Amino acid sequence: MRAYNFCAGPAALPTAVLEKAQAEMLDWQGKGLSIMEMSHRSKDYVAVAEKAEADLRKLMNIPENYKVLFLQGGASLQFSAIPLNLLGKNNKADYIHTGIWSEKALKEAQRYGDINVIEAGTTIDGKLAITDQSTWNLSADAAYVHYAENETIGGIQFANIPETDKPLVADLSSSILSAPIDVTKFGLIYAGAQKNIGPAGLTLVIVREDLLDQAKPEIPSILKYSDQAKNDSMVNTPSTYAWYLSGLVFEWLLEQGGVEAIHKANMAKAKLLYGYIDASDFYANPIAKANRSIMNVPFTLAKPELEKQFLQEAEENNLLNLAGHRSVGGMRASIYNAVPLEGVQALVNFMDDFAKRNA
Ligand SMILES: *Cc1c(COP(=O)(O)O)cnc(C)c1O
Repeated sequence: MRAYNFCAGPAALPTAVLEKAQAEMLDWQGKGLSIMEMSHRSKDYVAVAEKAEADLRKLMNIPENYKVLFLQGGASLQFSAIPLNLLGKNNKADYIHTGIWSEKALKEAQRYGDINVIEAGTTIDGKLAITDQSTWNLSADAAYVHYAENETIGGIQFANIPETDKPLVADLSSSILSAPIDVTKFGLIYAGAQKNIGPAGLTLVIVREDLLDQAKPEIPSILKYSDQAKNDSMVNTPSTYAWYLSGLVFEWLLEQGGVEAIHKANMAKAKLLYGYIDASDFYANPIAKANRSIMNVPFTLAKPELEKQFLQEAEENNLLNLAGHRSVGGMRASIYNAVPLEGVQALVNFMDDFAKRNA
């Protein structure tokens, strides 16, 4: 029996995708070997890789003038790759600081250039929120503006895409494919796969072509977007299995009706969980309504001393990985694309029962 998995990452994958991968594990499409045992340069594997890219382009409506790269090293290696590729001659960038991931990104960038940090976190009536863009001091000569669209640990998400005439660089690790976005508003989008795409070990980068030719000369070629683009993300051996499995997730998403349909489902899940928390005296969410994440829902218990018991009983009820990040504590339910509405309903039922027994 499969439990409901609310892990922030590596996160739940659609059961149908895992079943397909299982069926194909030993003998991929009658070829007598597993996809993991194939050369990444073979005709069969290249077709799998290209299909994954084509399906992602369809799902996100990615224009021709953007390259899609399937890389390694996680979103965290992009924290270095982005400044090394994009800082250019001005050697200056704006970073919007809203939480732990955007902070990690800006700390890495500070090793390479002049980073203007915009402190965009605030509190409104005791709830965490993101400040209005009109209060930000953006630089006139920044090579790009970086932000983390959804702060996975804090559970705080931008209500709008920031406006800028500079290339906008977005960490979409925990929100990619959860809602429709207009790719043309971005210079670069990146995401570690293990939240909303596929298994760990793969990192997606979607980058506008005109940004490819300003890398620092000392950049490792593995990190250089133009080299990776020229080599179809195969400067070296890519993460072949994660790429294949992500392709199966893209096929699954298309079968669900694409990103608009999955967004509707995500909104229904978020509404159910936040609605229950708001109506309860026993649970609370620390984020202002406009900036609540639809993917990562942190919540606290009125009696924090019951946290351990809550987690243990949840697990006994097949509701897994509800502990908040070690740096913030409390609880967190990550309700990515692959977590079904029934899972969120089961969580709410359990939370309600727990509250009644312990109020
Ligand atoms: C998980 C996460 C990261 C880090 O991803 P790795 O692949 O572990 O490097 C960065 N940014 C955000 C928003 C994340 O959720």
